[in-house]
Amino acid sequence: MNFLNFLNSKKIRTRLAPSPTGPLHVGTARTALFNYIFARQNNGNFILRIDDTDKERSDKRFEEDILNGLKWLGLEYDKIYRQSEREDIYKNYLKKLLDKKIAFWCYHSKEELAAEKTEQMNKKEAPRHVCNHKNIKSLNHKNKNGIIRLGGSDEKIKFNDLIRGEIEYDASLLGDIAIAKDEKTPLYNFASVIDDEEMKISHVIRGEDHIPNTPKQILIQKALKIQTPFYAHLPLILGPDKSKMSKRHGSISINEYKRMGYLAQALLNFIILLGWNPGNDKEFFEKEEMLELFSLQKIQKGGAVFNIEKLNWFNREYIKKMSMGKLSQHTMEYISSEWKAQINKDKKLWYKILELEKPRLNVLSEIKERVDFFFEKPQLSRSLLIHTFSNTSQHLDKTEKILSSIDRHSFGAENIKKALWDYAEEKGRGNVLWPFRAALTGKAKSPDPFSVAEILGKKETLKRIQHAKEIIT
Ligand code: GLU
Repeated sequence: MNFLNFLNSKKIRTRLAPSPTGPLHVGTARTALFNYIFARQNNGNFILRIDDTDKERSDKRFEEDILNGLKWLGLEYDKIYRQSEREDIYKNYLKKLLDKKIAFWCYHSKEELAAEKTEQMNKKEAPRHVCNHKNIKSLNHKNKNGIIRLGGSDEKIKFNDLIRGEIEYDASLLGDIAIAKDEKTPLYNFASVIDDEEMKISHVIRGEDHIPNTPKQILIQKALKIQTPFYAHLPLILGPDKSKMSKRHGSISINEYKRMGYLAQALLNFIILLGWNPGNDKEFFEKEEMLELFSLQKIQKGGAVFNIEKLNWFNREYIKKMSMGKLSQHTMEYISSEWKAQINKDKKLWYKILELEKPRLNVLSEIKERVDFFFEKPQLSRSLLIHTFSNTSQHLDKTEKILSSIDRHSFGAENIKKALWDYAEEKGRGNVLWPFRAALTGKAKSPDPFSVAEILGKKETLKRIQHAKEIIT
């Protein structure tokens, strides 16, 4: 059956199968996004399956982090399963294979297996275990520590990856695959095959690092006489130095991005372009456009480079597009209760400040350090006030005089600028405006002094200029 016929004949069901052994990262979020879109595009279902069979490494806190991250990104799933709640199902399948002697107990110790592996590596052979316990009938496993393996095969395993084309493996190089620690504890490949079958998964879309698992999973499917789903393996995400993305490249969890004030939409837009593009130079995608334009066939084979500058750029652009109401609400999360109390006394204050900062924000959390001078007296230093300019004291004096003459009620940015402009032009803009701005903000970078002065008001503006003069003299 070809792909299109299949699409027409069977319900599309995809799944995200994270192991809760760490928080939700960009790679898993991308897998989630692609699975989500593909299911939605085809009126299918998107399933979340928590792969928590590894009891030692799985942690409920990570499961929560994954669920929160997906929710924040708006990647709703239709159903959630946990492997830890499905032991009986795996047990039944295992029993079937053991009864039919297709699977068997292997009692080789860890040390024996490690020695075998070293020997094979030394001989430059593929490490694998072809077990001679397979045909031993008399071993009583109750008293031994063993694992369950699937009898190997000599055939060639072929599958048609929807992104990478045909992939072929020589099954004899895989040996007898370990499928369970015991009857109650299936290993990843086995549990995954059972679940993909039981959950009627039509398409397995996952990271390229799982390609070596696929022939093993196909062998298990063959042993159980169940259908093989379609596979699509996504390219690796690489750091800027082209090595596999890691913490070293600033990889942090999705919830960490959220805490820092990245917007979900910016992150999704950035993530969808990790390995996919629409074939033209369009870069901004609202969710509806993602659903309309994304296609598995356009996913690249080569690694996708993670560029944080690009993410910051998307975030800046999405912040610019945000309504003031939303921006106000979201940025409030990053400021102290003292500041909030001031804003409550003067409701327009926060909007005025945000209008100034909106075009400059990379992430929402930056707001605190950018606008502190509106709420607290800035720390001024002589070197900042003078910087590379001359006659600072004299210019501050004159600025103070000019501003004093403006009526308190017309102390707006335009009027302030008009009043000061000729003097600034005459003496050199930097000489006059730098110390004025630095006196108000205490910063080397900030919005223009006229707008800042308007928000601070005449009284506070003059007070700060006065204070700056004292520091210089
Ligand atoms: N639990 C596996 C992982 O987190 C799932 C792989 C798969 O999608 O089959 O990598």
